[in-house]
Amino acid sequence: MEEIRRIGVFTSGGDAPGMNACIRAVVRTAIAHDLEVVGIRRGYAGMIEGDFVEMDGRSVSNILQLGGTILKSARSKAFMTPEGRAKAAEQLRKAGIDALVAIGGDGTFRGAAVFYEEHHIPIVGCPGTIDNDLFGTDETIGFDTAMNTAIQNIDRIRDTADAHDRLFLVEVMGRDAGFIALNCGIGSGAEMVLIPETFTDIEEIKERILSLMSAQSRSSIVVVAEGDEHGGATQIAQDLREDPAFAKIDLRVCILGHTQRGGSPTARDRVLASRLGSAAVEALLQGHTNVMVGVVNGEIKLTPLKHVYSRKKTIDYELLKLTQLLG
Ligand code: ATP
Repeated sequence: MEEIRRIGVFTSGGDAPGMNACIRAVVRTAIAHDLEVVGIRRGYAGMIEGDFVEMDGRSVSNILQLGGTILKSARSKAFMTPEGRAKAAEQLRKAGIDALVAIGGDGTFRGAAVFYEEHHIPIVGCPGTIDNDLFGTDETIGFDTAMNTAIQNIDRIRDTADAHDRLFLVEVMGRDAGFIALNCGIGSGAEMVLIPETFTDIEEIKERILSLMSAQSRSSIVVVAEGDEHGGATQIAQDLREDPAFAKIDLRVCILGHTQRGGSPTARDRVLASRLGSAAVEALLQGHTNVMVGVVNGEIKLTPLKHVYSRKKTIDYELLKLTQLLG
């Protein structure tokens, strides 16, 4: 194993609140071990272009509480090609970077795994994505903040929905997974939650909504994950509107969208990001590569990158039952 002296850190894919806290932990832990740290701007795109910035303890002062990522994030088509990755490796070698910490989601880790196979630069991943859809960690950096932001917004929607006895379909993020929707549904007292992991039977949903809305004069909130296989809140609203039984129901759609990505990270995300960023550097120094650091049952755990992106993290079906029981 070659000695690690200088590491590069980058954020990639969709940004998530807490990424800055993670960068700070990487930089400060590395410095505590007398390593040099280089920030790679705009993920793999910046790696290919050699968009690097030297980092010291001061360059990460006062960023812990900031949303977004000071290193910026990007998606890079060029990195999907062997030529692009060869260019990236050349830039890293030129800058004397001998190991990497990647903060991102499953796409980022697919890229990291193929990059390591081809160029043998040690790489450890930190799970940074609001969707919480990564195998190998109970929670990802950004999930808690996104969930709290969504719940605060749904609380506001509830006020206006109640004032007019409206039915609101609220779409939250989750392209392939219903973690945000499920937890927001419980946390906001939604009447129903629709997620990609379960089949959305539109006729059954219509019946349930109609019986809810006729049982008493009241509002109803249905939380829909954007990746619901029926097509998200807009599609579901269209189906309901086409049914004459819904003619008298005041139905509205609210898509929370990117509001869930922004904002200052919660305490929970700051602590998680700090633990994971620090653990990633320790893992590199212990000779690990091609792994993601996660927290499982409260403990730091390393999981091979290929397991992270090839295995599916399952939702907690007890939570799903709870939404049905309480809603
Ligand atoms: P999120 O889930 O929050 O969107 P992500 O990390 O999954 O984050 P992606 O856009 O899927 O985001 O991936 C980030 C980048 O990783 C891509 O833009 C691409 O450059 C690289 N990447 C993804 N998949 C591969 C792959 N199979 N081979 C090489 N590079 C890849």
